[in-house]
Amino acid sequence: MNIPKTVNMYCAWCKKHNAHGIFVSKKRQKRTLSKGQRRFKRKMEGYGSFPKPMPTGKKPTQRQDLRFKCEECKKSNTRSKMPRVKKFELTE
Ligand SMILES: [Zn+2]
Repeated sequence: MNIPKTVNMYCAWCKKHNAHGIFVSKKRQKRTLSKGQRRFKRKMEGYGSFPKPMPTGKKPTQRQDLRFKCEECKKSNTRSKMPRVKKFELTE
């Protein structure tokens, strides 16, 4: 799927249509010592926990996590879900 690097779309802060640059957001690392992760880790071990370990295999297609950055106010928006695609490219 080819997507242009800039699109004209509505900016909620400027309250008008502006050019937005598109970029793929970086994946965040899990905070391994956070309360939720510690609780999850404890739940995953022993009896009476999750029925199976979480699946590790990757799906054949991925949904891209795109961010749209307004070129006037430099604030970035997200948009609703992108379709699942095998191949993804940002074009000029
Ligand atoms: Zn803006």
